[in-house]
Amino acid sequence: MGMVFCRGCGKEIHETAPMCPHCGAPQIIPSTKRSVGKLIAWGLLWTLVFSTIISTFVTGLFVNILQVAVSQPTIDFISRISTMISLWLSIVLVILGKLPGTRKPQVPTVKEP
Ligand SMILES: [Zn+2]
Repeated sequence: MGMVFCRGCGKEIHETAPMCPHCGAPQIIPSTKRSVGKLIAWGLLWTLVFSTIISTFVTGLFVNILQVAVSQPTIDFISRISTMISLWLSIVLVILGKLPGTRKPQVPTVKEP
């Protein structure tokens, strides 16, 4: 626990203070950082969701809609490709914060005096 200087008035305030007690200027709170462990957990969850949806959709498209005779090796190949696509898709979207649970926390804006 330490003291930091206010972004608004420059007076010394407690480092965990969400706002300055002297001038009321909001301070950057350390808890606005995204945790890496949480992102990895969400990434894995979304990979699972995407791979289930994509492989079901793609396999179903070939077998049911196009009425193509799909051999087992082809289905295995499709599921491998869709797993890879899902993995990269979820990694990119999680890093960009586009998925529920991965959004960047809002940093409070500092009002200029
Ligand atoms: Zn202040």
